[in-house]
Amino acid sequence: PHGRVWNFSAGPSVLPLSVLEEVQRDLLNYKGTGMSVMEMSHRSKTYGEIISGAEATLRRVLDIPSNYSVLFMQGGGTGEFAASYLNLFASRGVREKQRKLGRQLSCDYLVTGTWSKGGLKEVQRLGGRPNVVFDGAATAGDGAAAYTGVPPVADWRLGKPEETAFVYYCENETIHGVELPLNTVVDAVDPSVPVICDMSSNMLSRPIDIGRFGAIIAGAQKNMGPAGVTLVIVRKDLLERDDDNGEAVRGLPSVLDWCYFDRAGSMPHTPPTFSIYVCGLVFKWAEEQGIRVLERRRAERAKLVYDEIDAHPEFFRGRVDRAYRSSMNLVFNLPTPELEAQFIAEAADANMVQLKGHRSLGGIRVSLYNAMPLEGAEAFVALMRGFYKRHH
Ligand code: PMP
Repeated sequence: PHGRVWNFSAGPSVLPLSVLEEVQRDLLNYKGTGMSVMEMSHRSKTYGEIISGAEATLRRVLDIPSNYSVLFMQGGGTGEFAASYLNLFASRGVREKQRKLGRQLSCDYLVTGTWSKGGLKEVQRLGGRPNVVFDGAATAGDGAAAYTGVPPVADWRLGKPEETAFVYYCENETIHGVELPLNTVVDAVDPSVPVICDMSSNMLSRPIDIGRFGAIIAGAQKNMGPAGVTLVIVRKDLLERDDDNGEAVRGLPSVLDWCYFDRAGSMPHTPPTFSIYVCGLVFKWAEEQGIRVLERRRAERAKLVYDEIDAHPEFFRGRVDRAYRSSMNLVFNLPTPELEAQFIAEAADANMVQLKGHRSLGGIRVSLYNAMPLEGAEAFVALMRGFYKRHH
């Protein structure tokens, strides 16, 4: 309907049609206020209800425990690479542990692809000395063989708990199509060490045991809403500080300061009001579907495509080890770059777009987020079958 296409973008990406229609209905006059949400003061009562409603809905959908804060921030996933490091090192717990040790704590980074590497590089840029637990490119080189999976836990070089401030990883690598099975990392890490997870591209696609994480960071622009807002879910004890204006927060800009946002209900300054509003509608949609249903659909969509890849592995060349295949971003190559270009052209003729692999990797990437109906994945598989028949 509405001349819309099957949109397989990795992000910003497809949103539920019913949400877009609600936004459209309320665009000029939001519930009798005579103005759009875009035109409304963030200090108004109406907006206060929008943002607190969004948080409350998300808390129900993900069953977020009461000892966790939910923050809406700006700066994207990238901003949170710096924020997670700076906030953890400003926290009382880490500073106390550091005093006990008598020297700087380390922090552990699992490098599974471009985005966790981005987190690592940001820490280095800030002068930190992260410990690389493993790097999925180190043995394979940076080419096509890089980041095709995750080494066994026994081979991880995790730091000693008493020397480690936190462990950081990215649960779904949007470019490389590598996704860690549920709880792989929290099961491997000593429970005294907070685990920080980037869930930008698989947030809200399955139930998670939030209580096992120190903090979860996620840009909104895949499963949650438009770009411009970044979600942080953080255990409240990690927000405790000895010294709020002095040494503890030196080098921590206000816009990255989780405490600053926590104390002001995510509004110490002007938030991305419209993006948060749309996220709230997506959270409501997710609640209506049910998180278990979203999880089931995610598995169904991905299985359709991976089954087709596995039916003709010499033609559809999946790049990721089976155990770590992403259900959100499915990445494969065809035998030649010419065939890949041809595939993308034929897809466009069939109303399927944004399938080109990331510019760093080439190939095909099909992103199957929450708002992609099963029929979208079926249409894509029909394209794969037809293409195979004509070109193999
Ligand atoms: N982490 C992941 C997993 C991502 O996919 C992205 C961007 N697609 C980022 C972080 C960076 O997010 P942003 O572009 O919002 O800074």
